[in-house]
Amino acid sequence: NKQVILKDYVSGFPKESDMYLNASGTIKLKVPEGSNAVLVKNLYLSCDPYMRGRMKQPIPGNETYIEPFKPGSPIVGFGVAKVLDSGHPDFKKGDLIWGMTGWEEYSLITATQTLFKIHHTDVPLSYYTGLLGMPGMTAYAGFYEICSPKKGEHVFISAASGAVGQLVGQFAKLLGCYVVGSAGSKEKVDLLKNKFGFNEAFNYKEEPDLHAALKRYFPEGIDIYFENVGGKMLDAVILNMRAHGRIAVCGMISQYNLEHPEGVHNLMTVVWKRVRIEGFMVTEYYHLYPKFLELVLPCIKEGKIKYVEDVAEGLESAPAALIGLFTGRNVGKQVVVVALE
Ligand code: NDP
Repeated sequence: NKQVILKDYVSGFPKESDMYLNASGTIKLKVPEGSNAVLVKNLYLSCDPYMRGRMKQPIPGNETYIEPFKPGSPIVGFGVAKVLDSGHPDFKKGDLIWGMTGWEEYSLITATQTLFKIHHTDVPLSYYTGLLGMPGMTAYAGFYEICSPKKGEHVFISAASGAVGQLVGQFAKLLGCYVVGSAGSKEKVDLLKNKFGFNEAFNYKEEPDLHAALKRYFPEGIDIYFENVGGKMLDAVILNMRAHGRIAVCGMISQYNLEHPEGVHNLMTVVWKRVRIEGFMVTEYYHLYPKFLELVLPCIKEGKIKYVEDVAEGLESAPAALIGLFTGRNVGKQVVVVALE
């Protein structure tokens, strides 16, 4: 059972060498008698920014929402897998599932409450790591439940070409909003404008003054900001918000590798512009998953929602794929294919 192991806790930017491949792991291909675990063969693994938080050494008294990974053990993350054996009444041999699994060829999953059965297989299975999985649900819950969006509003999204951002932008376009995204390369900016149908997009790395760039695209201000990056971008956005605007704080990837996260300087503006800033966690919204599928599946089939993923081949490529999220190497949702069936 080939596995990707976390060597030790990580500080600063993660490196490929923080993980290694163990080619001689073993696993019994049978669920132990009396256990309600599920034994799966992993097909696709998801690389997600939150995983960086799980690589940090825990600080007693300062625990976050999720347990750290265990050095010496396989990385854990979302994936798509096939059930080989099951002691759980809800899953049977041959079922396809998505949820929390290990970065290895086969996993014995005991935390079965994190597993969803896949019922629609007429779309690529890898989509359940992104568009039809956790990031898709994040875009859906963040946009519809947190942003209180209205037709015609002006929406800005950072890290807009990524797993979450590309979908938020398309939801906003479907609602009839004016949508602008920022991303870190010309290729990504072209995708935003030409594939995902954003009204405008810009490369934030080429803008010496983010405040001025936002003024250019939003002369009358921003109604909704979908925050994925934090730092200087958040400060510039606050200055460009319209009265009664909303900021959905989904994530702040620019801060994840910093020992001392940057401060926000323009918060006073939030007072007089009466801006609502609200964080959210996708984990509180999984009850909406059936409603989400009802909306998104037909949109995929009718071509109303486009999706771009960046697929790395094999467990060997998983460490580089994961750390690539923090340099913007991924173009679209970062997936690792372990096996096709
Ligand atoms: P992406 O697919 O967007 O990949 C990460 C992207 O972030 C990179 O490609 C890069 O794009 C950008 N990035 C990396 N470093 C920086 C930086 N220093 N400054 C600005 N941009 C940077 O990831 P996801 O769509 O999966 O995640 C997007 C956000 O959503 C993250 O903040 C994540 O933590 C958050 N999230 C929150 C959830 C919740 O429940 N609240 C659930 C899921 C995700 P570029 O080339 O454009 O810079």
